[in-house]
Amino acid sequence: QKAPVTVLGLGDMGRALAEALLDSGHSVTVWNRSTGKADHLVAKGAAEAASARAAIEASPLVIACLLDDASVYGVLTPAAEVLAGRTLVNLTTGSPDQAREMAQWAEKQDVGGFLDGGIMAVPSMIGGSDAFILYSGSASAFDQYRDTLAELGAPTFAGADPGLAALLDLALLNGMYGMFAGFLQAAAIVDTEGIPVTEFSATLLTPWLQAVIGLLPEFARQIDTGQYAAEESNLAMQTSGVGFVEFAESIGISGELMAPMQRLMEQRVDDGHGGDDLSSVFELIRKSRERK
Ligand code: NDP
Repeated sequence: QKAPVTVLGLGDMGRALAEALLDSGHSVTVWNRSTGKADHLVAKGAAEAASARAAIEASPLVIACLLDDASVYGVLTPAAEVLAGRTLVNLTTGSPDQAREMAQWAEKQDVGGFLDGGIMAVPSMIGGSDAFILYSGSASAFDQYRDTLAELGAPTFAGADPGLAALLDLALLNGMYGMFAGFLQAAAIVDTEGIPVTEFSATLLTPWLQAVIGLLPEFARQIDTGQYAAEESNLAMQTSGVGFVEFAESIGISGELMAPMQRLMEQRVDDGHGGDDLSSVFELIRKSRERK
């Protein structure tokens, strides 16, 4: 007998979560603020509750996937007393501090176990092999419901600090947006010559990015050890040619995406670290924060 699950919030993501649980044979109760979003799920066997309170009462495991932190409190606070003894999994994106506060709030409501999660997938990936979800908070809740959570995407437990899943989620998104920024800039450059971006991306940019991703383990090692001496491509060399911004402006496109990167690389050289690898820019980003 698979655990009954309640899903609060039937936006694009909440519907995908509920559907994956239904498809894997769980009995699922759903609730959404506005009506009409549950129809497809009800046709597949979900029970639609008339209130968030009734939805929570239906299952020992309650998953909230709402717009933001405020909407989670808006939905849970009026029904707080029925959360006692149940496991609460918050898959609403938020900050580490919001997750830590919610864990404290949940403890005050006598929630049986609280997990905050960071979904590393878009809705169409949920239930598929490429989706993974980061969790932090109650290790015993994670162990108890690991198999159920695995129906949504590969579950990864990040630690007992409830803020860790959100922190890692944001770190991964920053990595992704940095890569997307480079893609957009490269596209704008080739576009000035009328080169189709589809062709450029398939034949040159994607293979190039796949090749240079191989540098990351060495950069990571340099950051962890604080030893940045470059073996072959130092910052002085990298900043001596045409700057990203000047080049962009010379061909009539915006250089603003690349400006901060160029500025940090040049500052590092000015500070006397021209012999370092690019990875030493990390030292300017972390500023003077003590390293853990
Ligand atoms: P949607 O905008 O599609 O859905 C938002 C949901 O929140 C709806 O169910 C909406 O209800 C509900 N909601 C909003 N405000 C309130 C409120 N004040 N009270 C009650 N319910 C409210 O968003 P998604 O489903 O795409 O995203 C949900 C969460 O999942 C977000 O935190 C998002 O960051 C996260 N996520 C989404 C991803 C994606 O690609 N979509 C990827 C990874 C994470 P109503 O229908 O009544 O408006």
